[in-house]
Amino acid sequence: MHYTNKYNLPEWWVNALKFDDYDKEGDYSITGLAQPVQMTILEELCDDDIYVDVSEMAYILGGRAIHMYLEHVEAKDTIRERRLKTVIRNRTVTGKIDDYRLWDERLSDIKAASKWVIKRWQDTGRVKEEWEGQDNGYSFLLKENGYNTKSQFIEAWLRDWSMMEAARDPSMPQCQIAIVPVPFWGEEATYDYLERRVYLHDTTPHRNLNLPHCTAEERWERLTEWKVKKAANKTAYRGGAHFETEKAAQTFLETKPIKDKPEIVKHLGESVRCEHWCRVKAWCCQYEIANSGGNDGFNGE
Ligand code: SF4
Repeated sequence: MHYTNKYNLPEWWVNALKFDDYDKEGDYSITGLAQPVQMTILEELCDDDIYVDVSEMAYILGGRAIHMYLEHVEAKDTIRERRLKTVIRNRTVTGKIDDYRLWDERLSDIKAASKWVIKRWQDTGRVKEEWEGQDNGYSFLLKENGYNTKSQFIEAWLRDWSMMEAARDPSMPQCQIAIVPVPFWGEEATYDYLERRVYLHDTTPHRNLNLPHCTAEERWERLTEWKVKKAANKTAYRGGAHFETEKAAQTFLETKPIKDKPEIVKHLGESVRCEHWCRVKAWCCQYEIANSGGNDGFNGE
């Protein structure tokens, strides 16, 4: 991968943004296995052709800073920032445990995240699939190394949280740190998940690049939706922000007073990761097909 610096940022910023102290051990990491297989393999294969501007990497600073703090905060009877390993399909799989309390067998993976991921969890109760994969993977690693896990969490610092917004809108996360309980998959299901991911990584590059497509969840798909908004300030009515069809929005609109001049606004869906975060979309057949008129699993319009 090559770096550019199109905003001519001072050298120390460039060095800070390029700095990576990731201590790779073993064949695969739990974090790597939880990433979309197609994206990870394309990143490896296309590494020499990928150009990234350092300005686009500023978002990683929050996460790195938290982990640096974590190493220095005192924690009694806790496994902190320790890498554990196991063997799956003759491959060494490792993972660094952020925080595991020995006295109550509580595991936490600590992250920087967007407030929108937490808002979705608040609204739907659904935890991001990658987060579930990671936490269950870490619990599996702990078990393999002699530690039971009674509860598992993602502890997320919300990098785009706004105090003003939280005060204005009670449906947004009210605290900049979110503690998210993660459901257990069970030992067998977690082993099956890890084994399948190791198998895909081991075999896919040798199968003429018949890469497994990224799922809607992995693409961070946002479906097209209709909102009923007040004409005066363009904000959606309470309960009027997420309609899957125009007809449903129309029905809702008919309950609103005419004097507000409510209007229906269509918000086009997209695969957010593909469009804004994936470094390999230029080499991705799935992305190419979806953007040349084929739907190929891309349901957002
Ligand atoms: S462009 Fe989208 S579908 Fe293709 S690898 Fe990236 S995230 Fe997956």
